[in-house]
Amino acid sequence: MISDSPERTTTGENAQTLRLILTDQLSRSISALDGIDARADLVLMVESPDDAGHIPHHRQKLVLMLSAMRHFASSLRSEGIRVEYMPLDDPQTPTSFPEALDRIVARDPVTQVIATEPQSWQPAEQLHAWRPQRSDLSIEIREDGRFLCSRERFSRWMDGRSTPRLEHFYHHMRRETGWLMEDGHPEGGRWNYDVQNRKRLPSESSVPARVAFRPDKVTLEVIALIRRRFPTRFGELAPASFAWAVTREQAFLALQEFVDQRLPSFGTYQDAMRAGNPFLFHSLLSPYINLGLLTPTEVCEAALTTYRDDQAPLNAVEGFLRQILGWREYVRGIYQLSMPAYARTNFLDATRPLPTFYWTGDTDLACLREAIQSTTQNAYAHHIQRLMVTGNFALLAGLSPADVEEWYLAVYADAYEWVELPNTHGMALFADGGMLASKPYAASGAYIHRMSDFCRSCVYDPKAKLGVNACPFNYLYWNFLIAHRTQLQHNPRMALPYRTLDRMSSPYVHAVTDEAEAFLRRLPTDP
Ligand code: FAD
Ligand code: SF4
Repeated sequence: MISDSPERTTTGENAQTLRLILTDQLSRSISALDGIDARADLVLMVESPDDAGHIPHHRQKLVLMLSAMRHFASSLRSEGIRVEYMPLDDPQTPTSFPEALDRIVARDPVTQVIATEPQSWQPAEQLHAWRPQRSDLSIEIREDGRFLCSRERFSRWMDGRSTPRLEHFYHHMRRETGWLMEDGHPEGGRWNYDVQNRKRLPSESSVPARVAFRPDKVTLEVIALIRRRFPTRFGELAPASFAWAVTREQAFLALQEFVDQRLPSFGTYQDAMRAGNPFLFHSLLSPYINLGLLTPTEVCEAALTTYRDDQAPLNAVEGFLRQILGWREYVRGIYQLSMPAYARTNFLDATRPLPTFYWTGDTDLACLREAIQSTTQNAYAHHIQRLMVTGNFALLAGLSPADVEEWYLAVYADAYEWVELPNTHGMALFADGGMLASKPYAASGAYIHRMSDFCRSCVYDPKAKLGVNACPFNYLYWNFLIAHRTQLQHNPRMALPYRTLDRMSSPYVHAVTDEAEAFLRRLPTDP
């Protein structure tokens, strides 16, 4: 067990405060560390085998989490703070953080445990359910102050709203923060510049290379550990393939590189996709924000400074701000208010098992292959790949929400249930019946063809609607509308596609369902 100081110096009556830091709480400003007394208090950090083993996390994600935890522990120690660090490779490490708490409380004269409320349901439940053996011990669970909208403020905003919408919440947050506001009005006269942000990337455009951080000694040790422990697990993990920042300093460099190099084009090409180029002008900052290496405020302020310095246009900065000030806070608020019932909804009665190609990339649909390959190589795919390629396919094919959610939670470096679940369950799969999104994000092959160059290398023809060469997204799209007419036809935003469907001849509709069903029957799944 790594423990910085075998000699436990405590103050006064040997009182000791134990401060728990979970994997995604790696911020010096986290509420659990507020008021810490470096001489008397002990910080507990656990690389829990349960966390690593229960979900088949991408191996780069595991390395990122563990290396960032180890670096964070070192930075606390360099301030003179005592840290009890329980590493995954120590057979004595307890399987979960409640067990680790039990162990320290049984060993040390702890009188108080301080923790920050976990964001995801399961660790929050575990923490609230934890009961120490000793009655003289107090537990304080503090709110996580790193979000831009507190839980209480979000529930006040939700009060009386039966159909919350991101756009309304976002306006509220712009007013609250004053970001991109002028005399109470949105800067530039509009709240949203999405109409300028849906361009396909011209084939001659160049894209800046991803900023890559060479693994240091700590990261190399964790890579070796994860390779040993999970030799066949999903996700590439040669040392050369690991490029993530693992410290706050490195994460700041990544933020600076983003605002200097990519932010100016972020808005315009936000929805674009290009084969062999998975990052385009996206920030790749979500893993760092979610772990706590950067705060949402720091990231938004860096973008706003770039705008004020005339280095990035309004459509880019507004588009970026909306993702963090809007979407990120919104999905967290919905998740916190509606769990655990939210995860059990299955509005479209989707039950089909996840096809094996989600894990292997072995499919002749080039767009899916491309998105899954990037996921395997980088533990990353950008939002449109997640939503309109792998998510859209899962929606149209009626894949089981639980299967799809486990996949998204496992494969992305930024995936934690509080943010993954609402995005997958609500936005991509419409399993919540429209609580998060006003309509399903269902699209035919025409969308993918318009926004990417994937179709050029595909065996299917995005313009063909039926027949062996037809793009499967085309007949799956209409089949989806046919199959879910009862649930969707009264949604005003679905009126247009249903009118188009109603103009189709009956033999054509039958041919669509026949081809879709035959395709779905052929999907490879685990026995
Ligand atoms: P950028 O495109 O550069 O966006 C900037 C930042 O905005 C991101 O870093 C992120 O912090 C925030 N953001 C953007 N969109 C969202 C959103 N919809 N919800 C929350 N934050 C957002 N994001 C996660 O952080 N974790 C997840 O597990 C996750 N799972 C997703 C699953 C599905 C099915 C979908 C459709 C989206 C998911 N997202 C998730 C949201 C989004 O796709 C990622 O935040 C984004 O792709 C991360 O890459 P980036 O940092 O380059 O983002
Ligand atoms: Fe995807 Fe269809 Fe294009 Fe092939 S033709 S890449 S399946 S959208």
